[in-house]
Amino acid sequence: MLIDNHNRVINYLRLAVTDRCNLRCNYCMPSEGIDFAKREELLSIEELKEVGRTLTRMGIDKIRITGGEPFVRKDLMDLLRTLAEIESLKDISVTTNATLIGPYIDELKALGIKNVNVSMDAINRDTFERITRRDAYDTVHNNLIRLINEGFNVRINFIVLEGQNVQDILPILELQRRYDVSVRFLEEMPFNGGTKGFQSLKWNYKGILDYIKENYPDVEKLVDPPASTSLNYKIPGHKGSFGIIPSFSRTFCGSCNRLRITATGDVITCLYGKPKMNLRAFLRQPDVEGDMETAIRDVIGARAKTGHDAQQEYSKVFSNSMTSIGG
Ligand code: SAM
Ligand code: SF4
Repeated sequence: MLIDNHNRVINYLRLAVTDRCNLRCNYCMPSEGIDFAKREELLSIEELKEVGRTLTRMGIDKIRITGGEPFVRKDLMDLLRTLAEIESLKDISVTTNATLIGPYIDELKALGIKNVNVSMDAINRDTFERITRRDAYDTVHNNLIRLINEGFNVRINFIVLEGQNVQDILPILELQRRYDVSVRFLEEMPFNGGTKGFQSLKWNYKGILDYIKENYPDVEKLVDPPASTSLNYKIPGHKGSFGIIPSFSRTFCGSCNRLRITATGDVITCLYGKPKMNLRAFLRQPDVEGDMETAIRDVIGARAKTGHDAQQEYSKVFSNSMTSIGG
């Protein structure tokens, strides 16, 4: 079992498989001039498999595949097939923009991968295209509905962006009125490749909840699962539910159970902190000093208590893009 220096059990790995993406969401990255990692720095699929095997031996029982866009990696299914064979791994989930997932839906289902988070920050085509800077609304919407109809446990991630998609908050709730899905509203974080910095946020979790309550005064609070980052709610009569993730306010650090590994092998023990080590040497150089497991245990034994603490020692954190961290 992996336990950090604040007695938190770490059982959840967010594994980024690429930093590339076919969309250009304006809250995540600039439209051009993005400093993508060099190809040789990206972990190969065999290396990602080794990371999965090592971390599950150490106590990780849930892996979320993220990126960049995971499905731009042509060999993604090869990794997923291997992970699906690891018995101690209870949950494999994927976070995707749902542009490229279509051809893989049947195999994902066959592999027992049930949890798919789809990022969709607009239910209006023009707004979607303005935010993502690409023309992919129909594909995303069709794949989303297909995933729901195929019985996946779908959560829709919607970042509330002042001046961009606030008018879509109520319309996107229609999805959870009609379908058993969760629509999760995220506070925006200034991780967009450094083009936008902000210290305070109008659409924080309270602002989002108050806005929804103005229209649905009988919203009911649900009991949140352990280590959940979202505060979850139900509107009476609706099939699904909605949640709010205070990603900017960071009220969830006390129960944080997660570790992040980027597509280049950086180990991030807190979203707001510096990478603490890199796995490439352990994976690529047989004569490297020390072993990967001990090094990982060491950094988990020195985690910051909160995201605010981690940020104190890393003033440049917000010049990063989410596409390199994985969300
Ligand atoms: N491409 C996939 C997707 O969009 O779902 C996976 C990678 S994406 C970086 C992972 C998550 O990070 C997405 O849900 C996205 O909405 C979120 N994200 C990206 N930039 C963000 C930001 N500035 N603030 C809050 N969440 C962000
Ligand atoms: Fe790509 Fe996801 Fe970032 Fe959008 S949020 S640009 S889909 S990595």
